[in-house]
Amino acid sequence: MTTFADLDLRPELLRALTGLGYEEPTPIQAEAIGPLLAGRDLLGQAATGTGKTAAFALPLLQRIAPDGSAPTGRGPRGLVLVPTRELAMQVSEAIHKYGRELGTRVLPVYGGTPIVRQLKALQRGVDVVVATPGRALDHISRGSLVLGGLDVVILDEADEMLDMGFAEDIETILDGAGEDRQTVLFSATMPSRIAALAKRHLTDPVKIELAREKPAEGEAPKVRQTAYIVNRAHKPAALTRVLDHEEPTAAIVFCRTRAEVDEVTVTLNGRGYRAEALHGGIDQEQRSRVVERLKSGATELVVATDVAARGLDVDTLTHVVNYDVPAAPEAYVHRIGRVGRAGREGVAITFAQPREHRMLKAIERLTRQKIAIEQVPTVADLKARRLELTRASLRESILEDDLGQMRTVVEGLAEEFDLMDVALAAVKLAHDASGSTADEEDIPQAAPPKPRDRDRDRGSARGKPGGGKPHRGLDGPTTRLFVGAGRAAHVRPQDLVGAITGESPLSGREIGSIQIHDRFSLVEVPEDSADLVVTALRRTTIKGRKPQIRRETARHR
Ligand code: ADP
Ligand code: MG
Repeated sequence: MTTFADLDLRPELLRALTGLGYEEPTPIQAEAIGPLLAGRDLLGQAATGTGKTAAFALPLLQRIAPDGSAPTGRGPRGLVLVPTRELAMQVSEAIHKYGRELGTRVLPVYGGTPIVRQLKALQRGVDVVVATPGRALDHISRGSLVLGGLDVVILDEADEMLDMGFAEDIETILDGAGEDRQTVLFSATMPSRIAALAKRHLTDPVKIELAREKPAEGEAPKVRQTAYIVNRAHKPAALTRVLDHEEPTAAIVFCRTRAEVDEVTVTLNGRGYRAEALHGGIDQEQRSRVVERLKSGATELVVATDVAARGLDVDTLTHVVNYDVPAAPEAYVHRIGRVGRAGREGVAITFAQPREHRMLKAIERLTRQKIAIEQVPTVADLKARRLELTRASLRESILEDDLGQMRTVVEGLAEEFDLMDVALAAVKLAHDASGSTADEEDIPQAAPPKPRDRDRDRGSARGKPGGGKPHRGLDGPTTRLFVGAGRAAHVRPQDLVGAITGESPLSGREIGSIQIHDRFSLVEVPEDSADLVVTALRRTTIKGRKPQIRRETARHR
């Protein structure tokens, strides 16, 4: 396994990579960086999303770094040609980030904006220009971009550039650059036009083509594979929405970098999921604990980098989520190999940015399986689905549950209100209570208050110091109770509220947060009622079972 340190990169660059959370080079980086540092020309074929930018940018930065060879003259020392304005900005930003400690000056140059500011920046002096071919030529003819001092010329997404009609511009630019420069050409595809271009302008290039190994027969995972095409900015919202829709029992969300793992973990926890991070920056002991919690069902969501998840083998895993398209199709196969084992159902969900569409195609070719592109569920979809869930659970409740004790409530209300209005209010409460994961916490407020609430003096019931921690819904010390039944037994928050309010003197309002996990649930109650509730619950059944009831032990925190 190659590491970045193995690749002889300068400490400034290594630190930048660590800062960005890159844990190990992608395959194209592992293969390209060595030869590029040695000054070789390179012809590389790799799909979008495989990490080509760092593959050419890191050696570029190292070769033109201040204490390297003396500048050969005026003008930039590196030129990167890219097909679009977006890529010019993106690549320039990436180079800036990688080269931050080296103080490398990078300038994106593209059409469609006033040329004046670019002229000024070029006059002040830059080390690397990232340009679209048309605008580059424009500057060359004005004399504002001088090619004579170039040490490295990089053609990124060369096939795209040819498709966009930049062939002649590229030829002109390459002809104008000095003879002994290094030339690097990356392309997702290698049609003969590209091969011809390479033949004319590259000298004895190293050729890298990312191997597409076919998976062995029967090895291909049997998994429902879907992808959502979303812009980067919409990914967090799309992720939570899809998770709400899929309701995984246990899932791993894969991210590319540590920073992203941390970000996504925060996003998920903020939305009421219980997600835990797993990456190389977390100490081994903590990592083992996270894995154990995932295995035991205490954690439903783990957000991980590939490296940290390596060797992770969890039987109960139902979903693998690729928050990014993995850098190599092989990594995709690796990731989703964790679900759908031994005839079990598995789901693989991938979030791809529009430009990563081709990467999905590459994965489809490798796995010889189709990835269905789906629409992110809209708010309306989610609402409809939640309504459907509420309808189904009401139906179930009518058919199965012992509703006898509710009769007096309904009859009481029916004297005052229309039965239809009573039903509507009850359905709304049930619906609100079972809504999103975030709403699960608010269930007690939604539970119908029982008549005896009015007689109870809630203020004086509590106040014993010490014990549990406060919860926003409860103002005294609280304790969490462990109930040995959860989602797998179809336990819903309202079942627990019902059991507690039915069997103990507690009202719905005195119940704090409720967490339904796959195999157990946690309910927060006032500390001084905890024993009473435990005794009461032990007498009753929840969803036809007599689950274990006890005070929570630290393991489930
Ligand atoms: P390509 O040019 O092949 O389409 P990019 O260079 O744009 O791919 O990289 C795609 C994404 O992967 C970027 O967000 C980049 O930050 C990230 N990335 C690149 N190399 C690594 C790495 N070694 N580890 C983690 N993330 C990486
Ligand atoms: Mg790229």
